[in-house]
Amino acid sequence: MLNSLNRIYNVGIYIRLSREDDDKTEMSESIINQKSLLFQYVKENNLTVYDTYIDDGYSGTNFDRPNFNRLLKDIELGKVNMVITKDMSRLGRDYIGTGNLIEKFFPEHNVRYIAVTDNIDTFLDSSNNDIAPFKAIMNDMYAKDISKKIKSSLKAKMKEGKWVGGRAPFGYDQDKNDKNHLVINKEQADTIKRIFTMCLEGLSFYKIAKQLTSEGIKTPAEYYSFEWKSHYNLKYGQWHPKTIRDILTNRMYIGDMVQNRRSKINYKVKKVIKNSESDYIIVENTHEAIIDRELFYEVQKRIPKNVGRKEKKENHLLDGLLYCGDCGHRISITSRRRKDNRCYTICNYYRTYMNKKICTTHSNNYDELEKIIINSLTKMCLNYISKDKIKNNVLSNLEENNEFNNKKELEILNNDIKQINDNLDLIYIEKLNKKITAEQYERVKLKLENKLSIKQKKYNELNNDINDTMTEKSKNKIIVEYINKFLSMKDPNRELIVNLIDRIEIFEDKNINIKVTFNNMY
Ligand SMILES: [Zn+2]
Repeated sequence: MLNSLNRIYNVGIYIRLSREDDDKTEMSESIINQKSLLFQYVKENNLTVYDTYIDDGYSGTNFDRPNFNRLLKDIELGKVNMVITKDMSRLGRDYIGTGNLIEKFFPEHNVRYIAVTDNIDTFLDSSNNDIAPFKAIMNDMYAKDISKKIKSSLKAKMKEGKWVGGRAPFGYDQDKNDKNHLVINKEQADTIKRIFTMCLEGLSFYKIAKQLTSEGIKTPAEYYSFEWKSHYNLKYGQWHPKTIRDILTNRMYIGDMVQNRRSKINYKVKKVIKNSESDYIIVENTHEAIIDRELFYEVQKRIPKNVGRKEKKENHLLDGLLYCGDCGHRISITSRRRKDNRCYTICNYYRTYMNKKICTTHSNNYDELEKIIINSLTKMCLNYISKDKIKNNVLSNLEENNEFNNKKELEILNNDIKQINDNLDLIYIEKLNKKITAEQYERVKLKLENKLSIKQKKYNELNNDINDTMTEKSKNKIIVEYINKFLSMKDPNRELIVNLIDRIEIFEDKNINIKVTFNNMY
């Protein structure tokens, strides 16, 4: 049942045993117990386990647990997309923190969470998902409940073919008498009809866009300019090929209601994700068509599946690194001209809106430009290497000394931590054997735990420091390797260039600004 959702799950099993669990729960919560229950569950549901994360002796009231943190890291790295615990309290006893995980962190990372004995499964909309424990503590659970109800009533309306999207799609208006019904907007519909006709006549998206723009036909952006935030309509009044494609493939225009194209992850996360086409809710013939069904499907045959550019014939060393210094858009490299066998650079923004006089050509002979840039890069590299040598000579002794001291201190801290943990174990056993009273135990435990957290904090800080300098050092080492390689090569390859150059800005006045990756190293 768990795999029915068309998705492969990599499970992170999380197990926690806390020292506070007294002897009675100790038995049922023991690590072996949790493990066997969870592996049984995983087996029954045919799931793949990515890793098991066990925190032995950590309190559930805070989230500073090493293996728990490791689990979160693996989630962030995309290695784990399903988390299973025995019950919710294994995740944590702090409801705010636990709530945060279940309501925000997991959904944001598209992680499914299951608490086996609590019957909680965050990907199921069932009453089994007992949100009661949260309700008492987190008022905003109520908000979630409502948002869920609204969601399901919206979906019910979508399934009835009622428009629920607010502003009507381009080409339509909301019916004044029934806002869930669409009526044709004559002016916009005429534009849509023209676009379909032009496509049938064999014009490309680009040519259609250009033609409409030159005639001054109003774009969707101009109709809705007050709320338009689309990424591809950079300037009102400019038809973009992507807009043309969107219109030509929109089934709304044959009278079918297509909804549920995107969804909010949940009520707390603003992120909106695109749904896959199988999640679309489509109801046929709900409103008047603008385009004849047959014509629409005739046009679909002409629409290339992939809008991505065709593979470039020639690979240039600086491909993708060039930017227009004046408008910020990318600069592309044209294919070789037949008459002089030369490539030229051109500002993309200028090229897209050629006759609108937006930005300027930024035209340069590419091969010459490449030579100039490689020369400058060589100079920058030589400069860096000489600085690096000086720095190394002066600092290496000092640093080595420092490193030695740090490592020694780390060792001492590590020993202290082990000692305190041993003592904690010891008094715990003494309490179990009734050699000390519960009050005595609590008092000593508190003291030891305080000590422990101080030492642990120091240890972590120092360790981070050491790691930081190490990564900084190794980063620098890699860069120096790249630089040396580059300096020794007659013809640099693309891999080296990409590792050494961040971006190159080209200005119309022929100024060039090279941003290298090693600039901020020191
Ligand atoms: Zn430009």
